[in-house]
Amino acid sequence: MSTPDAARQTVLRQRLDAVKARIAAGTAAAGRSVEPELIVVTKFHPAADVVLLAGLGVSDVGENRDQEAAAKAAELNADGVRLRWHFIGQLQSNKAKSVANYASAVHSVDRLSLVPALARAAAAALAEGRRAEPLGCFIQVDLDAEPVGTQRLRGGARPGEVPGIADAIAAETSLELRGVMAVAPLGADPVAAFARLSRVSAELRRSHPGATEISAGMSADLEAAIAHGATHLRVGSDVLGPRPVVR
Ligand SMILES: *Cc1c(COP(=O)(O)O)cnc(C)c1O
Repeated sequence: MSTPDAARQTVLRQRLDAVKARIAAGTAAAGRSVEPELIVVTKFHPAADVVLLAGLGVSDVGENRDQEAAAKAAELNADGVRLRWHFIGQLQSNKAKSVANYASAVHSVDRLSLVPALARAAAAALAEGRRAEPLGCFIQVDLDAEPVGTQRLRGGARPGEVPGIADAIAAETSLELRGVMAVAPLGADPVAAFARLSRVSAELRRSHPGATEISAGMSADLEAAIAHGATHLRVGSDVLGPRPVVR
């Protein structure tokens, strides 16, 4: 008889294989030779699932809430499971210190005022040996073509704010400017949105040639993201199933 863990691992393996097959097909269809990196978004799912995913060869996981991410990262580290943790959620400046202890990269740098907080936190973590490398930073871009008033449905900096944020990150030795990130706007065509992101990325690279990465694409739209140059995909529900309901 199979244990619950073995049953769950079988489900995760099948779903992971299906997502990998979509990535391979999308990469071929886009005429690209290198597949984007897969970040499995484990938010709301238990640390036990992250352990199983690590056993299936997953190296990168994404989380969007500091409290949950810090607890899971601590649990996996204690078990000797080494993973790269990507922080992908809205980040309050007062959580920067915590995030710098476990995150390889923050994909959701959405405002200038977050940069000094991240830089200070990463510098302290480097100095105290709590991290070995600078904290990777992706600037989250708001792709809503016509924001409703000042409301930003999916979050992120306006494209016009990207250069200033990029310069601020690049000036910090404890941070590494890696590129841009976006979530396709709700109800809009992801192809058009990711095409815009690709133009924002090209513009950024004119002043920051090293900032080549594009974090885009989730379960529903990863093919569109691959077609427009995504280097990192953030896939949750198509690997882990529906997220448990939270109160
Ligand atoms: C939850 C989340 C994802 C994963 O979304 P799925 O639709 O479950 O694949 C990707 N990116 C961000 C920013 C998220 O919050």
